[in-house]
Amino acid sequence: MYIIRDAVVQRSAPQVAMYVPSSSQFYYKVWIHEQEHVQQFGPGRILGDLYNADELRNLIMGLSAPTVEQLSALVSDVRNSYLALQNLLLRDRAPYAEREAYQVSDQSDPRYVYQGCG
Ligand SMILES: [Zn+2]
Repeated sequence: MYIIRDAVVQRSAPQVAMYVPSSSQFYYKVWIHEQEHVQQFGPGRILGDLYNADELRNLIMGLSAPTVEQLSALVSDVRNSYLALQNLLLRDRAPYAEREAYQVSDQSDPRYVYQGCG
């Protein structure tokens, strides 16, 4: 019988992907918007409780299986289920997170007659 007695689970730093060239007049506006999304994953913010490393670690701790291979597969299943649930929660909150981010980035130039925050 194999059992998970200890595990290190860490959340990596947010990865920001920007598809606007740095020469664009919109680059800084997009950068501000994306930085707000990074901040939203911080403690107490709208996405701050998602992808919690301690929560995932607690789900994995104590798992057991007759073989190392089965234990490894079980850990993968639990991790994948956890990530799938977090992805669903993120999808549900995304419209609210977008509105928040636009409220920040819409304040920077160039401004539009129509802006994302409505
Ligand atoms: Zn956004």
